[in-house]
Amino acid sequence: MNIIFFGAPGVGKGTQAAMLAERLAIPHISTGAIFRAAIQSGQELGQKVKHYTDNGLLVPDELTTEIAVSALNEPGCANGFILDGFPRNLGQAEALATALTAAGRTIDRVIYLTAPQAEIVQRMLHRGRVDDNKEVIQRRLEVYDQETSPVLGFYRATSGNVVMEVNGLGEVGEVQERIVAALTQ
Ligand code: ADP
Repeated sequence: MNIIFFGAPGVGKGTQAAMLAERLAIPHISTGAIFRAAIQSGQELGQKVKHYTDNGLLVPDELTTEIAVSALNEPGCANGFILDGFPRNLGQAEALATALTAAGRTIDRVIYLTAPQAEIVQRMLHRGRVDDNKEVIQRRLEVYDQETSPVLGFYRATSGNVVMEVNGLGEVGEVQERIVAALTQ
């Protein structure tokens, strides 16, 4: 199954996507995690993206799309994948659609995870990641509202039947069961 996790920063996409990937035995592709790993291990990619991730800005599309699309084209993704944090704007959504069409593939589900903004901010502050300070969180939420939220409209317009809204409030296991149910709906 080819799945996209969509939702605001801090809504729990990473946690839920990792659990589901294990359950379905398909790769979990998180562009944010790829960038963090590259920064930590001092790779050239890390040096290129650090300024953006540190400030809550989107890493340029060309770089991000190249990374996500090449991950999808790995043999390990032949039986499916979970994309988490990509696509994050309309340009990325269009680039992904083009790459999938070229490969004769489609998206089976877009899981749109929701939670109230106050809850999201609290979760991020508790998580304590380096990019989880108040100003950077604020910037990430603004970028989400302005650049990322239109991606939902893109999927509703182009493949509305695959978009499933899932309530992200509650126990981690409970949310996971809602997601699993949404996959077969
Ligand atoms: P969160 O969902 O909490 O914002 P992520 O791990 O998804 O965290 O992303 C962390 C940072 O990595 C983002 O603020 C952004 O700078 C960068 N990033 C991740 N995915 C993308 C993407 N698809 N396009 C551009 N930048 C991205």
